[in-house]
Amino acid sequence: MLDRRNLILGSGAALAGAGLIAPGRALAAGTQIALPQDVSTERRNTVTAAPTRARLVALTFDDGPHPRLTPQLLDLLKARRVRATFFVIGRNVARYPDIVKRMVDEGHEIGNHTWRHPVLSQLGTASVLRELDRTSEAVYRAVQRIPVTMRPPYGALSASQRAMVAREREMPTILWSVDPEDWRRPGAEVVASRIVGRARPGAIILSHDIHAPTVRAMPAAIDGLSEAGYRFATVSMILGQRDWSKLRWRLPGAARVSD
Ligand SMILES: [Zn+2]
Repeated sequence: MLDRRNLILGSGAALAGAGLIAPGRALAAGTQIALPQDVSTERRNTVTAAPTRARLVALTFDDGPHPRLTPQLLDLLKARRVRATFFVIGRNVARYPDIVKRMVDEGHEIGNHTWRHPVLSQLGTASVLRELDRTSEAVYRAVQRIPVTMRPPYGALSASQRAMVAREREMPTILWSVDPEDWRRPGAEVVASRIVGRARPGAIILSHDIHAPTVRAMPAAIDGLSEAGYRFATVSMILGQRDWSKLRWRLPGAARVSD
């Protein structure tokens, strides 16, 4: 049997056990899900796509918030009633907490993308956890809840580190199944057509809200996905969990870090 606790966001009991939610506020049991094809038992802390045949996708945006582009993106997501997930950089959260507040107010999910965007695979355990904890604390200060998922910069986190992060912070590593390579700046039209052309049920779509062409690509990408019958969910929701913003979160008391 697969261990759901290690596979996805974790049951309420698992989260409560880690001190991430207040006792008595356990998550509703998520629907049972099958192990994704791309997540073997060795990689069960890692998610690249949701194991669903429903035409659901999760748009994810990394590296923000950006003071000008992220609000533009939020405007167009709001106009289309689309929920997304933002893997934010902690030090940007500290600079622009109001934008993070707006994300949450408008139904989006916040994920942890480290404090200063290092290559985590080159860091030791204490440094990795410090990157995550500083970011979770900044998010908590902004919106009074903490991320329940993380994405390593450049996708760079070893299997043993992914297991460590899941064990120490109950956070699955969220990668992606669709990469339009928007950071290479191929142009808005190319970004949009790659996203629409490569989407599959359960896809987790990687983009960056710090590039203007990416934001310009989103209307066509969203409209194209909608016309293909796709609906949009946050990462937690596409993995069968409740909307993270409906939960009461608190930081673990005195997080201790050891190597
Ligand atoms: Zn990044």
